[in-house]
Amino acid sequence: MMLIGSHLPLSGPLYFEETAKLALSFGETAMMFYTGAPQNSRRLPLDKMRIGEGDAVLEGKIALSSRVVHAPYIINLANRGDLDKLKAMEGFLRSELERAARFSAPILVLHPGSHLGLGSEAGIKNLLLSLEETLADYRGRTRIALETMAGKGGEIGRSFEEIAAIINGFSRPELLSVTLDTCHLNDAGYDVSDLPGIKSEIERTFGIRKVACIHLNDSKNPRASHKDRHENIGYGTIGFATLEKWASDPDFADVPKILETPYYKEKPPYGTEIAMLRSGVYVEGWRERL
Ligand code: FE
Ligand code: FE
Ligand code: ZN
Repeated sequence: MMLIGSHLPLSGPLYFEETAKLALSFGETAMMFYTGAPQNSRRLPLDKMRIGEGDAVLEGKIALSSRVVHAPYIINLANRGDLDKLKAMEGFLRSELERAARFSAPILVLHPGSHLGLGSEAGIKNLLLSLEETLADYRGRTRIALETMAGKGGEIGRSFEEIAAIINGFSRPELLSVTLDTCHLNDAGYDVSDLPGIKSEIERTFGIRKVACIHLNDSKNPRASHKDRHENIGYGTIGFATLEKWASDPDFADVPKILETPYYKEKPPYGTEIAMLRSGVYVEGWRERL
């Protein structure tokens, strides 16, 4: 069974129980969510989030190993301009790792951050300092999966070399893995239609076994645009045939594939996108029939 799912909301009144039901309603065998609003650090206590009830819904349908939590995107550890803020963000990352573990998620997806004009090399150094500070005594089971980025603004992690520099520069590389985002790779300049070429680039840098999650998105923009705007499967510049190859690749069979495509006319596209990727058959004009 192809491990595929989507990014899902986690909101009241039923929280994780509702998230779990939504995942199953889309036919998902993998899932991703934030443990709270990605743009702030207010967090509801976990005992209010009906985790046990959600677990019961997911039992036998979505494995614990296919649960992914996304860290809030306000966390930026690549710039040390505001040390008070940085300390707060390091604490926030640590608490998000612990929250992810409470949802039994083996990985927490993290954006490597933005150097805000200092250059990638300085940004990577800063991130490494923060990871050392934050994870020195970390004993949890949830690992970080660094996401490949489009390179907009001062984003670091826009190439496999940069991701490898982060992993190899860290004293505990076993705590780090990688999330490949097809939209971000395309926008960063990679030819994602050449999957064998991508895989050999990965082998040359951090190695294919480090791939812990794939974000399967089409892109609104051409290759190397450095934009990062996701599009529905088949409606962007990457196209269905390529995304279907990524979804069904045997080397990624055990890797959860997660859609982060936009809603269309307020309707979630995931049920249809997942069905098409599973069957390998594209339905022309599917979005109008949601
Ligand atoms: Fe992301
Ligand atoms: Fe992503
Ligand atoms: Zn994105």
